[in-house]
Amino acid sequence: MIPMTIGGKAHHGSAEFGSLDPYAGEPWVTLPEASEFDVNDAVEAARAALDGEWGALTGRERGALMRRLSEVILAHAEDLAQCETRDNGKAIRDTRGQMKLMATHYDYFAGLADKLDGRIVDTGSPELVGFVRREPIGVVGAILPWNSPLVILTAKLSAALAAGCTMVAKPSEHASAAVLMFAELFAEAGFPPGVFNTVSGSSREVGGWLARHPGVNHVSFTGSDVTGIAVAHSAASHIAPVTLELGGKSAHIVFADADIEAACQGIAAGIFLSAGQSCVAGSRVLVHRSISHEVTERLVDIANSLRLGDPRDPNTHIGPICFPGQREKIGRMVESARITGEILCGGDDGGLGGLFFRPTIVSGVGTAAELWREEVFGPVLAVDTFDEEAEAITIANDSAYGLAAGVWTNDLRRTWRVSSALRAGTVWVNTYRFLNPSMPFGGVKSSGYGKVSGTEGLSEFLVEKAIWLDMTGQPLNPFPSFGAAHA
Ligand code: NAD
Repeated sequence: MIPMTIGGKAHHGSAEFGSLDPYAGEPWVTLPEASEFDVNDAVEAARAALDGEWGALTGRERGALMRRLSEVILAHAEDLAQCETRDNGKAIRDTRGQMKLMATHYDYFAGLADKLDGRIVDTGSPELVGFVRREPIGVVGAILPWNSPLVILTAKLSAALAAGCTMVAKPSEHASAAVLMFAELFAEAGFPPGVFNTVSGSSREVGGWLARHPGVNHVSFTGSDVTGIAVAHSAASHIAPVTLELGGKSAHIVFADADIEAACQGIAAGIFLSAGQSCVAGSRVLVHRSISHEVTERLVDIANSLRLGDPRDPNTHIGPICFPGQREKIGRMVESARITGEILCGGDDGGLGGLFFRPTIVSGVGTAAELWREEVFGPVLAVDTFDEEAEAITIANDSAYGLAAGVWTNDLRRTWRVSSALRAGTVWVNTYRFLNPSMPFGGVKSSGYGKVSGTEGLSEFLVEKAIWLDMTGQPLNPFPSFGAAHA
């Protein structure tokens, strides 16, 4: 069993559940079932660390621990990558790259930990000095999805640690193992106990207990929009602010002057790698009518060339879908797309059986179809054509979601016009799916609110305190009608 970590100690919970290896089709490890008491203990441990040793450290000291954590991650990168690949089926070539990205995040935010400067404000009165101090928001509850548990945790935890916060993380019931394993390594970097705690379980209730806990000062959630709404309601019960990183239906627009090979490679990587189980998967493509034949043919070629198989094999591009319910959802959505659209490639398991789903391209499904409007979270691309720039922008923006978009063109002015007009948290131009710690990431509309990464992501974990200093040395008249204005 991989235990939970609460207050620096291993916790085995009162029961256990098996975590599925989606390639083998059977459980490969047992994990603890947290009770509501365990969640409470974890929040209390996080509070104790905040009020104790961790809260007393300087920013520079926190940064030094974070740099050590980055080294610990690199030293255990292979074990962490193998664990995540086994647990959610993501190809090892992807998870290995993600471990390096994790280490970079802690390094980047370590550099910000001692730069949380406040400011002095002109209060309008020479005798009253105003300071604004930035303080850690407190205990953070992090609720995670299954597609990239460690990287998504990292985007939250690296900024939270730099801000001076502590955290209780609740990984997905479908892929908890790597997050629990990481928590065991965390102490190796020398952090005091209670700074980072984990609670796991097969029940979705565990996340609810965490989001509703009155000791949690900020809930950082990544997952579906439906659950995000429930989490925001739970956090509202004790007025805790929430960051919501939700789903997407991101569109690419490929203009006639684009580098077609670069566009096709970028589009294919954006939707097919990780078997499309990526929030930023560019699942809709709008191609200028004059190049639509060429682009579609090339996309089909690339899709058919990708290798599906054992995710632990470094030659595998695409592993299985993470769990049976998700595999069924993808199959059902593709079947219903056959009614109005044409399946150009894929659409089945390619004879591999199990939880595999081949890279699939559907054309002409129509912009009213479920496949065009709803997130599949699988390797399924819907392609359509456009004639005018304004038309492409309108169709791309006609979505409940607004997470990301891709623009492919060599016209500099168009680059600016179109990326300004697209309603999305991230727009990639002539590239796709790049993420790093210094660029803010987050969605608009049903893709959520708030940011991770960048200085914007750091701000989510800080609160500003206004401090007034009276320099007169005289008693101040407390009654506004007789003196200066008071609140
Ligand atoms: P999900 O919403 O089903 O679950 C996410 C987490 O919430 C899990 O840990 C789950 O146990 C927990 N949970 C479930 N019910 C809860 C409740 N009532 N209260 C509190 N917690 C609860 O999402 P998923 O299926 O794990 O992940 C896929 C979704 O995540 C997709 O929509 C994808 O686009 C999105 N996602 C978004 C980003 C992003 O950064 N925007 C990144 C990755 C995934």
